[in-house]
Amino acid sequence: MKKNFRIFLTILLILNIPLTQAHVKKALVCGAGGFIGGHLVKKLKQEGFWVRGIDIKYHEFCPSHADEFILGDLRNPEIVKLAFDLAGDYFDEVYQLAADMGGMGFIAFNDALIMHNSGLINLNVLEQARLSETKKIFFSSSACVYPERNQLDPENPMCAEESAYPADPDTEYGWEKLFSERLYLAYARDYGMDVRIARFHNIFGPEGTWDGGREKAPAALSRKVAKAKDGDVIEVWGKGDQTRSFLYIDECLEGVRKLMDSNCQEPINIGSEEMISINDLTRMIARISEKNITIQNVPGPEGVRGRNSDNRMIAKKLGWAPNKKLEDGMRKTYNWIKKQVKKQATSN
Ligand code: NAD
Repeated sequence: MKKNFRIFLTILLILNIPLTQAHVKKALVCGAGGFIGGHLVKKLKQEGFWVRGIDIKYHEFCPSHADEFILGDLRNPEIVKLAFDLAGDYFDEVYQLAADMGGMGFIAFNDALIMHNSGLINLNVLEQARLSETKKIFFSSSACVYPERNQLDPENPMCAEESAYPADPDTEYGWEKLFSERLYLAYARDYGMDVRIARFHNIFGPEGTWDGGREKAPAALSRKVAKAKDGDVIEVWGKGDQTRSFLYIDECLEGVRKLMDSNCQEPINIGSEEMISINDLTRMIARISEKNITIQNVPGPEGVRGRNSDNRMIAKKLGWAPNKKLEDGMRKTYNWIKKQVKKQATSN
């Protein structure tokens, strides 16, 4: 460590750069008050970035680690302009994660809201990035862009990147993501902007929404199990044989940073290939909790029948793909949610 620092100082001296003028990379994180955005800010800070975050709300579970945090609505172009204003300087990297989003319980019932709000955010942020001469911009797309026809068999979903077309996502959330992917690609083509696009597949971990209607399956099931007593029955939406893969937040961010440092401009999957049925995920959580739980499958929004990340392209382009075990991430997530459930119970 000391040796590296000495080499760094020597380089500065040779190049005649005073220490105070060494370029500190600056990043803007849109959606910094959210689950992935909050973790991303922490990671960028650890890597030495100067970070500005913006969100319509503060982070629910931890104070922001950003150097500056703007509370503002990205649907408003004036606020977006303010977010990009660095008094003549520019952001080296912009991460656009802000979206009106949630799990199936939210996505299935809020089509117009999602399309309007997230559409405006993406239009505003990308246009301002162009005007502000942003060096590089990241957009968080989703596995929800893939056509329903390839996700009808729970055992054999097909989510290779090129299979997104001919397009037929099963939700308007997926259509908005697809539109925005195309928007970013059009700006890259027409204005020479440097864009990176990831299709996230079910990212989970501590410090994410776990209650209130926007939570996703790993958090919702962890909450149900944490609230249950030994021997209880818990409700699981759908037949329970629907399949998904889930990626722990740390590996998601590792992928995002590798993608940013690569020259890959095409949309790319960032997800796990460890596919599991929703009932088996529930059993995994019950095992972690050391409780005997009985599953009762009930009607509810369940999305496509099967979905799994296809990591051939990421392995080829980045020389890396996620490989950590789902159960390890679920253990950390369950334990964090268990604490939140306890906190909530004592505060009521
Ligand atoms: P999140 O809901 O925790 O974060 C999104 C943030 O955007 C929230 O904090 C929200 O307040 C903010 N936001 C919404 N409207 C805004 C507005 N008008 N102005 C400013 N901020 C606004 O969700 P997340 O899980 O952290 O997801 C981040 C991104 O990744 C989203 O774009 C999401 O669509 C995408 N994604 C996530 C997953 C996942 O599994 N978590 C999967 C696929 C794609």
